[in-house]
Amino acid sequence: MTQPGPRPVRAARGSRRSAGSWQTEAALRMFHNNLDPEVAERPDDLVVYGGTGRAARDWASFEAITRELTELSDEETLLVQSGRPVGVMRTHEWAPRVLIANSNLVGEWATWPEFRRLESLGLTMYGQMTAGSWIYIGTQGILQGTYETFAAVARKRFGGSLRGTLTLTAGLGGMGGAQPLAVTMNDGVALCVEVDPARARRRVETRYLDEVAEDLDDAVRRVEAARRERRPLSVAVIGNAAEVVPELLRRGVEVDVVTDQTSAHDPLAYLPRGVALEDWSDYAAKKPDEFTDRSRDSMAEHVDAMVGFLDAGAEVFDYGNSIRGEAKAGGCERAFDFPGFVPAYIRPMFCEGRGPFRWAALSGDPADIAATDRAILDLFPENESLARWIRLAGERVAYQGLPARICWLGYGERHLAGLRFNQMVADGELSAPVVIGRDHLDCGSVASPYRETEAMADGSDAIADWPLLNAMVNTASGASWVSIHHGGGVGMGRSIHAGQVTVADGTPLAAQKIERVLTNDPGMGVIRHVDAGYQRAEEVAAERGVRVPMRHG
Ligand code: NAD
Repeated sequence: MTQPGPRPVRAARGSRRSAGSWQTEAALRMFHNNLDPEVAERPDDLVVYGGTGRAARDWASFEAITRELTELSDEETLLVQSGRPVGVMRTHEWAPRVLIANSNLVGEWATWPEFRRLESLGLTMYGQMTAGSWIYIGTQGILQGTYETFAAVARKRFGGSLRGTLTLTAGLGGMGGAQPLAVTMNDGVALCVEVDPARARRRVETRYLDEVAEDLDDAVRRVEAARRERRPLSVAVIGNAAEVVPELLRRGVEVDVVTDQTSAHDPLAYLPRGVALEDWSDYAAKKPDEFTDRSRDSMAEHVDAMVGFLDAGAEVFDYGNSIRGEAKAGGCERAFDFPGFVPAYIRPMFCEGRGPFRWAALSGDPADIAATDRAILDLFPENESLARWIRLAGERVAYQGLPARICWLGYGERHLAGLRFNQMVADGELSAPVVIGRDHLDCGSVASPYRETEAMADGSDAIADWPLLNAMVNTASGASWVSIHHGGGVGMGRSIHAGQVTVADGTPLAAQKIERVLTNDPGMGVIRHVDAGYQRAEEVAAERGVRVPMRHG
């Protein structure tokens, strides 16, 4: 028998289904949507995003998952082990229709070389966060997360808006390219250093970046004028951040916020000063050790300058790319003088159970998302930053694959949105059901000492019981599919995280499940932070009735 090979994949649209129920039709459409060429980076290799994050292990697994989801009954559950369907069990109608475990390895074996060895034997795959759990929605996800982070910076330091402030950053790649738009959506001015002119141009073409300057003098002129006039603007300058950032410090340019999203987590993906762009890949491939030393030296100079801006009074933070750790390895003594973005801005939101809530319209009709946008604005009229995001996203975000939306909602809010969507399906206001899920990067669903759980108040950064409890409580509460992954955005051995997706099909049963899942899932964030001793989480638990048996206060 010939093995199945790559074929174009696109989720079905409309209100007619081929699977037995909307619960399984939803899983099927989202699985296929992850591999839509508009959504996936390398669909032929089943890679959705984030290096090698896959939706299925191989094409034979893809075809088998498709077949099983089409045939699955409401009293059965499909088990997926690292992208391969391994069993169908008899369960019940409240049970998830799919249970997924991706990339998990026993602690001592959880290294890249061992993972690669097992992967090459065809025994596992890398699931990233939302690739192998079938709820990736394209770059809107990173744009919203970046918008939310800059909104939190604005709240903390600048009275709620970045208007009249200048943010200096570097890296305009897949994720970093969201920074200029996220800053201007918060009404600020952004100066972005990027070494590759093609990357900068691509951001202009996709309207994430406003302008590319002629040179550094020109860039400084443009951003200083915009800052003075309190006019949102984003400008890229082509250059090496290890040279440009120290030069801006020397010139005394007044900068309010400094961060970085070059690919610093991988020294071979950060261009050292003095190396030409065209020599990069050859040099890194031929002399990886020498290249690593040079790139760490450059990162040390880059981060020294970031610390200089910190001393001058700027708000400075590491944006999840490990530049502090690499710079320290390159000899920068003060690399950890500035914080990572989660402890600095995101954790207070996590204490309220707030995190990246997302949904997709299975109809494929953008009008359904427009209707849900209006519902969100109606439900939470007092939340100005949410309203600004929803309005701007409606205007500026192009859909990839099935129309979808993301916004951050907290404990006590998510289930209200879910129940409203379910009612809209029941009333025929939406033309087909909606799936409601989230990123694994959420308040109570991840253990990741270099990112989401860096510097927890009680030192519990590496305790991974929380994401496992999160997956179990979502399974017990009626989620439609639940996943447990290892690795995600920070790599092997560095994180464990869980996800859930729940279908709003308009039935009373779906309403009961949604009410429980979308209360308990963010509830995990509240109890995780109460347990670690965060005062804000204690207040939220007391105010909103989250039961925590051993609450301190
Ligand atoms: P990417 O590889 O697509 O882009 C990196 C960009 O940096 C490239 O355009 C490259 O040309 C540029 N660059 C490299 N060296 C440079 C230098 N010396 N000076 C100026 N520009 C330079 O990576 P990405 O997907 O944009 O991710 C960027 C980083 O952010 C990664 O380290 C990633 O792990 C991290 N990340 C963090 C979060 C988060 O939690 N906030 C989320 C996603 C990604």
